[in-house]
Amino acid sequence: MNKASFRVAVVGGSVGGLAAALELRRSAKAEVAVYERSAGHMQARGAGVVMQPDVEWLLGEHGTKAEDVCVQLKERIQLEQSGQTFKQRAPQLMTAWDTLYSTLREPLRDSCYRQDSELVELRQEDEGVSIRFIDGYETSCDFLVAADGVNSKCRSILAGEAAARYAGYVAWRGLENEQSLPANLVQQLANRFTHFHTRGMQMLCYLVPGSDGSTDEGRRRVNWVWYVNTPRHSLETILVGKSGRTFRSFVPKGEVSDDAEQQLSSLAIAHLPPVFKELVLHSELFIQPVQDVVSQPRLHGHCALIGDAAGTVRPHTASGTAKAFADATSLSIALDGWNRSDPLPVDRLKCWERQRRSELNRLSSMGVQLAAGSGLGVGNAPQPWAHNGNDT
Ligand SMILES: Cc1cc2nc3c(=O)[nH]c(=O)nc-3n(C[C@H](O)[C@H](O)[C@H](O)COP(=O)(O)OP(=O)(O)OC[C@H]3O[C@@H](n4cnc5c(N)ncnc54)[C@H](O)[C@@H]3O)c2cc1C
Repeated sequence: MNKASFRVAVVGGSVGGLAAALELRRSAKAEVAVYERSAGHMQARGAGVVMQPDVEWLLGEHGTKAEDVCVQLKERIQLEQSGQTFKQRAPQLMTAWDTLYSTLREPLRDSCYRQDSELVELRQEDEGVSIRFIDGYETSCDFLVAADGVNSKCRSILAGEAAARYAGYVAWRGLENEQSLPANLVQQLANRFTHFHTRGMQMLCYLVPGSDGSTDEGRRRVNWVWYVNTPRHSLETILVGKSGRTFRSFVPKGEVSDDAEQQLSSLAIAHLPPVFKELVLHSELFIQPVQDVVSQPRLHGHCALIGDAAGTVRPHTASGTAKAFADATSLSIALDGWNRSDPLPVDRLKCWERQRRSELNRLSSMGVQLAAGSGLGVGNAPQPWAHNGNDT
């Protein structure tokens, strides 16, 4: 086997980090090691993921057909509050975060993937980067890829604190095995993307593969997201879990407080069309506040930021994962042919940075416009959460 031309440390082992590790190893012939903060089972950062061309391409390069890891939809349905619908043909492929995670993790089984590894220190040196983790483990690399998400520690060390900013609304989510829901409810939601919006809220639902990746009828999951305008002071309460722990960007299943759950149920009864009301009332909830990180400088000596660490897009563009994959693929092209004994290919890397920042700017303005179409995160828009009664 040929000796690797350089060693890469990828910080953050979610889908963006895995895509970078795969592509840097395949196309730039690097030796890769991934360092992930989570200890045991990886917790999903998303649930449903709309298949996009950048994701489909990368999966294909690593031997997986998109159709094999996706549920196929036929149409799109727009619901009115009364339950009336508008229907159009709209074929689409839908997958799930955990399906993608295992698909990308499998071909990396012979590379280092170190969990329980929270990066706490990063030092640029003459010809590489030294890093240290919370357990005291230290290592070095020739190039570092920061894929550590919206609250990136690497970004705060490299670029100064560019804190994520709350966008003014919360994504309430559910991901249920289809078998655990009433059959007539699943029947109404299967094979289609179902959408509802009114000023200050927006909800969507589609089916995704089961937790074992199965796309067979009876083994899939029903994925839904309900965006609700929520004032910051209410958010602070919502982020306190049942265990008393305060979460920053994700409240997992089992932690959503009884108060928050009760308020959401009342909102569902007051505002949602019947099929969505029933779905919410049958689901175990989890929460992601929507946060913005504006586009950041990505190149810092021998380090590069990718995915959400480099800047976010609103989820309405359904492109967070595709953006992280495209960052990873194009970075590995920019580093193709580089050898650790040579100077970095700075011109190619700068070109990579320009192109990716301009794409991020385009997607993030599109996301803000899509949100504004439902009055989400917009000043003077209705605040359904605040007007729901017992908020203090
Ligand atoms: C409400 C909502 C809905 C979304 N819906 C979609 C969708 O439909 N389609 C889509 O494509 N995208 C969606 N996204 C976006 C998507 O979740 C991300 O863009 C995508 O997961 C890419 O993220 P990433 O790999 O850059 O970061 P993340 O997935 O956030 O992963 C960062 C990783 O870094 C690890 N980490 C953090 N700090 C450290 C540290 N100090 N040391 C080591 N490891 C660390 C974390 O544990 C984590 O595993 C949605 C996002 C939100 C908020």
